[in-house]
Amino acid sequence: MNTQDLLRKIPSVDSILMEPGFLELMEQYGSMPVKSILQQLLESKRSQILAAEPDTLDAMQDSITSTNIFNDVKISLTNKMQANLRPVINATGTVLHTNLGRAPLAMSALDAIDGIGRGYSSLEYKIKEGKRGSRHDLVENLLTEITGAEAAMVVNNNAAATMIVLASIGSGHEIIVSRGELVEIGGSFRIPEIMEESGAILREVGATNKTKLRDYKRAIVKSDTDKHPSTAALMKVHKSNYDIVGFTEETSLQELRDLSLDTNLPLIYDMGNGLMIDMSEYGIQEPDVPSAIRTGADVVLFSGDKLLGGPQAGIILGRKDLIDKMKTHPLARALRVDKLTFAALEATLRLYLDKDKAINEIPVLHMITESLDVQNDKASRLIAGVNSGLSMQIVETKDQIGGGTTPMLRLDGISLSVSSDKHSIASLERKLRLNSVPIIAHINEDRLLLSMRTIADSEIDIVIEALNQIGKTNE
Ligand SMILES: *Cc1c(COP(=O)(O)O)cnc(C)c1O
Repeated sequence: MNTQDLLRKIPSVDSILMEPGFLELMEQYGSMPVKSILQQLLESKRSQILAAEPDTLDAMQDSITSTNIFNDVKISLTNKMQANLRPVINATGTVLHTNLGRAPLAMSALDAIDGIGRGYSSLEYKIKEGKRGSRHDLVENLLTEITGAEAAMVVNNNAAATMIVLASIGSGHEIIVSRGELVEIGGSFRIPEIMEESGAILREVGATNKTKLRDYKRAIVKSDTDKHPSTAALMKVHKSNYDIVGFTEETSLQELRDLSLDTNLPLIYDMGNGLMIDMSEYGIQEPDVPSAIRTGADVVLFSGDKLLGGPQAGIILGRKDLIDKMKTHPLARALRVDKLTFAALEATLRLYLDKDKAINEIPVLHMITESLDVQNDKASRLIAGVNSGLSMQIVETKDQIGGGTTPMLRLDGISLSVSSDKHSIASLERKLRLNSVPIIAHINEDRLLLSMRTIADSEIDIVIEALNQIGKTNE
C-alpha cells in the first residue's frame, strides 16, 4: 500500500458521523465538540500517514477503521468533558480536609440546594406580605435561637467576615490583638494583612508566648489625637491551627470581657471553627459559640464549613447595633452569599435545634464521633468484599480533624493497610487516586492506609470495586 491509497482509505467525516456510536456521543455531548475532536483526530492521522516510512503503512491501516476512530474520539471526548470539580472519596482520615472541600453536607442541606437551585425562591421576598425582603433575614432567627446572640449576618467565608467586622468597627482606629494570636490560616489569610486591608490599625500587645490583661490595658488610647488614633475594639483570635506550649499565658475571654465593659470597647472574637455544641464528652476541648456569646463577646465570627459542618460561609453574631452597621456597610454587597449557600446553611442550622440530630446527621460531627466499632465494621466489610489477592490488614491509627482546627487533637481511628506483591505502595496510591471516582489514600511509615472514619458507608462498595480491579492488574 502506498501513501495515497492509505489517505484515500480514511473515512470521511460525514460517513463516520452516521455510525450509531457517534450519534449517541453527539446526543450526550452536543455535535460541536464531537465534530471538532473527530476533525483533529483525522487531521493527525493524515499527518502521520504522510510522515510514515513506506514499510509501516500497512500496519497503519487498522488505526483508520471507523471502529478504532470511534474509540479514540470517545476517549478524548470523555477526558475533555470530564468535570474539573469531581467527587472524590476521602480515605485520609482528616475530616475537614481543606484540599478536598472541607465539610461534606448533610442530606437535608443537599435536598435544600436541590430544591432551591431548580427554580425561583424567596431569597429576597416576603411571601406572607407579598413584598420585597432581605436575604439577611433568612437565617438570622435560627442563628440567634441556637447561639443566644442578639443579631447575625452571613458573608462568604470567615476571611470576609473578619474583613467586614474590622472595616465597620475599626476603620482608621486601632484594634488591639495579642502577639500570640496573629494567626496565618492556610493560603494567604493572615490577621495582620486582613486588618491592613480593612483600614483598621493593628495594635499588637504582649509577647509571642505571653499576653497579660495589663498589656491590653496599657495599649488602650481613649481618644484621637493628632499623633495617635484611638482604640476602636479589643480582639481575640482563636489559635485554630497551632498551639503555644511551655511558658505561656493567654488572657481569657472572660478577662477581656471585663476590660471591655470597663472601657466601653467592643470585644471581637474570631473563633474560626464554629463549634456549636459542647463536645468535651468526645474529647474535643474547643470553645463553643454559645458559650462565647454567654461570656459576653460583642461580636463572634467563624466559618460555616469547619466544625459547624455546613457550606462555605462566614458567620457573624453579636450586638444588634454593631451587626446593623455591617449589614449596611458597602462591603456587605461585595461579600454576600448566594441562595444555594443560604439553602444549605439554613438546613444545617435547623439540625442544631436538637443536639442528637446534629451529631447524627451532620457528616463532620458524625465522622468525628464515629466509634471504633463502627469503623471496624466498615473495615471488615471491605476485607470481605476484596477477592483479588491484595493483602489487607486492620491497623489502629490516629486521625485528625484538620481544616486548621484542633491541631494537637488525635482521634483513635481504624485504617486498612493495603499492600500487594505486584504493586509498590506508591503505585497503589496512584491507581486509587486515578480510579473513576478518585480515592485519596495516605502513606504513613511506608504503609498505604485507607482510613475508615472519612469513608462514608455508601462509598464502601466503590472502594471494594476499585481494589478488586487494581488487584487484578499488574504493575
Ligand atoms: C479558618 C479560620 C479563618 C478563615 O476562615 P475561612 O472561612 O477559611 O475564610 C479565620 N480565622 C480563624 C481563627 C480560622 O480558624
